[in-house]
Amino acid sequence: MNKPFALSGASISKRNPRTSIVKKECRIRGNMTKPRVIYWFRTDLRLHDSPALKAALDLKPEVLYPIWCWDSHYVYHARVGNNRWQMLIDSMNDVSKSITKLNHNSKMFVLRERAVSLLPKLFNAWHITHLVFEKDTDAYGRERDNEVMALAKKAGVEVITKSGRTLWDSDDVVKAHGGKPTMSISQLQAAGAKLGDIAAPIEAPKSLPDPGEMSLEVEQTQPQPKSDINEHFREGKEATYSSGIAGPDGDFSVPTLEELGMKPATTPHRGGESIALRMLDEILADEEYTGTFEKPKTSPAAFEPQSTCLTSPYLHFGALSCRYFYHKADEVVQKRKKAKKSVSEPPTSLTGQLLFRDMYFAAQAALGFSFGQTYNNPNCRFIPWHLPSKIDLRTKLITGGYEIDDEEKEVWFQRWAHGKTGFPWIDAIMRQLRYEGWIHHLARHSVACFLTRGGCYISWERGAEVFEDLLIDHEAACNIGNWQWLSCTAFFSQFYRCYSPVAFGKKWDPNGEYIRKFVPELKDMDKKYIFEPHKAPISDQKKAGVLIKGDGEDTESDGLKVYPKPMFDFPTQRDICLQGMKSAYSVGLHGNDKKVLDGTWKEAFDDNGEGPTEGIKGGPGGLATFEEADGVEEASHGHPTPKKGNGERSSDSPKATRGRKRERSQSTLDASFKKKAK
Ligand SMILES: Cc1cc2nc3c(=O)[nH]c(=O)nc-3n(C[C@H](O)[C@H](O)[C@H](O)COP(=O)(O)OP(=O)(O)OC[C@H]3O[C@@H](n4cnc5c(N)ncnc54)[C@H](O)[C@@H]3O)c2cc1C
Repeated sequence: MNKPFALSGASISKRNPRTSIVKKECRIRGNMTKPRVIYWFRTDLRLHDSPALKAALDLKPEVLYPIWCWDSHYVYHARVGNNRWQMLIDSMNDVSKSITKLNHNSKMFVLRERAVSLLPKLFNAWHITHLVFEKDTDAYGRERDNEVMALAKKAGVEVITKSGRTLWDSDDVVKAHGGKPTMSISQLQAAGAKLGDIAAPIEAPKSLPDPGEMSLEVEQTQPQPKSDINEHFREGKEATYSSGIAGPDGDFSVPTLEELGMKPATTPHRGGESIALRMLDEILADEEYTGTFEKPKTSPAAFEPQSTCLTSPYLHFGALSCRYFYHKADEVVQKRKKAKKSVSEPPTSLTGQLLFRDMYFAAQAALGFSFGQTYNNPNCRFIPWHLPSKIDLRTKLITGGYEIDDEEKEVWFQRWAHGKTGFPWIDAIMRQLRYEGWIHHLARHSVACFLTRGGCYISWERGAEVFEDLLIDHEAACNIGNWQWLSCTAFFSQFYRCYSPVAFGKKWDPNGEYIRKFVPELKDMDKKYIFEPHKAPISDQKKAGVLIKGDGEDTESDGLKVYPKPMFDFPTQRDICLQGMKSAYSVGLHGNDKKVLDGTWKEAFDDNGEGPTEGIKGGPGGLATFEEADGVEEASHGHPTPKKGNGERSSDSPKATRGRKRERSQSTLDASFKKKAK
């Protein structure tokens, strides 16, 4: 329990809030003429295009308390690394400043307690009539909000929620799709067509009402963390709650990384609505880029600047409205159409990217918690992956832990997660992810395919957890959905299309500049060997100041840097995986099949499902053929028909637009490469 506090919101920016106690007559809620509103910020750290904020202001409130409940669920139990915390803190500070610009008495008041225990106390203390917030269809958010709504009802507080996080309300999309999850862009588009046009964006308010007095006599309910899933990101003690409900200075400040005990962020990207809107203006000003954007033609190897918009972290925190983004991008497209200039179309266009986002949100909205796992998920194929999740059979939910069914696979997983696989393309991506918290979509494709069906045969759930830890744009719906896509467990099924950790990277970055940047041990390696440095003769290795040896444990030897050898022979491992996928697809189990639920699935597989993935039956030549994946996201999701490779790449090889300058600078991209048909 912590000390109660009393302070005045009306003078928060000027006076020491601990000493400025304002005593006002306590009014009875029933006698009031004007609404007293709590605006609860969560997924919407912005003032522009916020349907929920508009709904709050439309009430013409006497007082508006803009608040944030600092939820211990995210502090201790959801995977969030230091880089994403920094983005959140930036976004909170930015919106708070914007509020203060509109009303110098106001800001975003951060109260350090979970909404479920805190809000009923605030309803009472502040004589609240209305609670307003943006709708959250994430599984945890929905459960929490249902509880809050029940508590509000009990307290006689009216709750208003508005959808604003997606182009259409995800629940409406599900209804329009017959109550089912949307598993393809065409399904999303068909449901969207039934719902009508995407609502036009709403302008940011020009003024905001005063907050009421902040005098409070409430006791903070402190969390009792049984476990701290984010411990490995901390270098000090987590202390965001110990200073009391209003923080160390009693001014409802936004907690800092230091208070979280977190290591300093390494990401160069900073959060907040102001930055997001500036970035979007820059993107839109380049009408050719915006109007002709085609995702498969953007380079995964581009950095400083990257080849896509990098709007995802801002969309995640609601610092940028997706509807605003959609309409602004569409305006550019329509203008170009009128001028008879070339334009791109969904799904590869910019607006198409936002449709993918809505597709995953609606899939999650339909399935709830089960969307995030294989077990008990009717839409997720069951594949006997290594390192499977532990399940709580009572709740049918994954516990966050996993079985180490094979020590070698655990080693592979750790080497993948830390960028030490010995495949420089994969390691560069994983190191960029760890350092920066953002990687290009096709880079995500490469490493996700490599961990699952195209290399390690490790559960997509392990990969999704690492991404959840490290991404600054982690969005449960998009992360889970895309991992299922890449592992061919849902959304996509052409498992014979595999990303090579060598050829795919080479195609985009023949000189290996991206590798040189993120794997500095290899920065002086001859271009001939940069994707496969273990093939370099010792003399070339020494010339480049690096030795290729070991498993990633050693970083130096004989005064030279050390980079590991590949952790396996990729073609062998790829064929083993393909054999495994083929076998799992022919068995055809899904997460909610009885045999999966009761653990008897092994009976359905030859060799208890272990044959191909252990190499008993697989090995080189295990499958007739495969295709090099090229990053084009096919809309199809039917049963795959493995095709024979024709040996040559088609003439429509991707053309790179590198960075925001969008020069067609990678002249070698059209070079053909052989498919390794066996
Ligand atoms: C394994 C894997 C995990 C992923 N995890 C996430 C995640 O946690 N959060 C996340 O926002 N995206 C995720 N994505 C999707 C995609 O990679 C990112 O949204 C995109 O790379 C963000 O960069 P950008 O903003 O430059 O995108 P742009 O290409 O510029 O696209 C504009 C916006 O469209 C949305 N978008 C684009 N592609 C997708 C997509 N495939 N799925 C959903 N939304 C999309 C994003 O909000 C993005 O900001 C994941 C993809 C893969 C393959």
